[in-house]
Amino acid sequence: MSAANPESGPLGIFGGTFDPIHIGHLRLAQEAHETLRLSQVSFVPAGDPPHRGAPRSRAADRLAMVRLATARNPAFTVDDAEVFAQGKSYTALTLERLRAALGPQRPLVLILGADAFEGLPTWHRWRDILQLAHVAVANRPGYAPHRDRRSDILSPELDAVCSDHMSNDPGAVRESPAGRIVPFDMTPLAISASQVRGLIQAGRSARYLLPDPVLDYIERHHLYHGS
Ligand code: ATP
Repeated sequence: MSAANPESGPLGIFGGTFDPIHIGHLRLAQEAHETLRLSQVSFVPAGDPPHRGAPRSRAADRLAMVRLATARNPAFTVDDAEVFAQGKSYTALTLERLRAALGPQRPLVLILGADAFEGLPTWHRWRDILQLAHVAVANRPGYAPHRDRRSDILSPELDAVCSDHMSNDPGAVRESPAGRIVPFDMTPLAISASQVRGLIQAGRSARYLLPDPVLDYIERHHLYHGS
């Protein structure tokens, strides 16, 4: 059996606000890694996410929590460029940076949950994203199954792009550097960062929804307590 070269296989890119990172994020990355046979998954915490209000915790804290949560997994890495960049954290710019650094051939795979995928047409230069990377879409409880290209769920323009780019073969991400939309199933986990923040704010326990070192960090730094 030949060892896969982590520098040439498909690189997963998993962006998010991670406010805080939780088990839903970690299982999503782990299952994407296995199902799509990604050589690595790079977590990219947003510094200033464009699609929402300001995060509750500082970018430096969110980055620290992502580092704690991923530290023991050799398949996971953390990309801190968006945290330290000036301006909004646009995924198209991150993918351009990675494409320039890694060359034209290496498959890049942007990993999204179904809710994020549904909102794709609102993203900055969203059509460019498929020129730069594949898009892997995981199911998420509460959102319509991503396999249903139903025009009442997806916007007409995203539905049309799905018709042209969808592949149900996870191996498709190895066959070209970019351009396929690949749905995949993950263990359904109805966990969100909002839920975690709400529990902590209400003085309730968020234990087992996120890794213990992250929970310890939240306690030590008094994050999410109070309004
Ligand atoms: P919030 O509740 O603050 O909106 P969130 O839990 O959705 O946060 P984000 O950091 O916004 O977390 O999400 C980053 C990415 O992870 C998105 O692509 C999102 O779809 C995906 N994701 C988050 N939680 C889950 C989950 N439980 N199952 C599947 N995908 C998820």
